[in-house]
Amino acid sequence: MNAEERQVRCPSAQPGMEKLRVLGVVAPTPEGPRVAYLRHDVEASDDVLALAAPVQPTEVFRLSGSCAGGTCAHFQGQRCRLAERVVSMLLPVVSALPPCRIRPSCRWYVQEGREACLRCPQIATLDVADPHRSALARPG
Ligand code: SF4
Repeated sequence: MNAEERQVRCPSAQPGMEKLRVLGVVAPTPEGPRVAYLRHDVEASDDVLALAAPVQPTEVFRLSGSCAGGTCAHFQGQRCRLAERVVSMLLPVVSALPPCRIRPSCRWYVQEGREACLRCPQIATLDVADPHRSALARPG
C-alpha cells in the first residue's frame, strides 16, 4: 500500500471525488447486490467509468476516494453518519472480513470496525432497485 492509499478513504465514493479508485464491482444476486472487491489497484479513470454505460458508474462500481470529512454531507462532528447507518440498519451478509485492499485506510472500518465490513458487500452506492438501501445514501 502506497502513501496515497494510507490516507483515509471513502468506500462509497462518487465520480469527481479526489484520488478515485475502483474498490469493487457490484453484481446482482438473488439476495441483492454483492460486491466483488478488486485485488489490484485500478484508477477510476473516465474510460473505466464509461464501461458502466448505459447505467451510472455507481450502479456498477464501488469506488473509493479521499474522504472529504467535514465537507461531505454525510459527515457530522467527527463521524461518518453513512457508516453508522450501514451498521445500524443492515444485517451482516458475510461471516468473515471480505478481501478488501483499502481496509487500513477505510473510513467505515476505521470508525465502525469489522461490523462495517460484514455488511459492506451488500452496498451499491446507487441502488435504483432498492429504496431501503437508497435511503442509506441520504445524508442525515
Ligand atoms: S467497510 Fe470494510 S470491506 Fe467495506 S470498503 Fe471498508 S474496509 Fe473494505
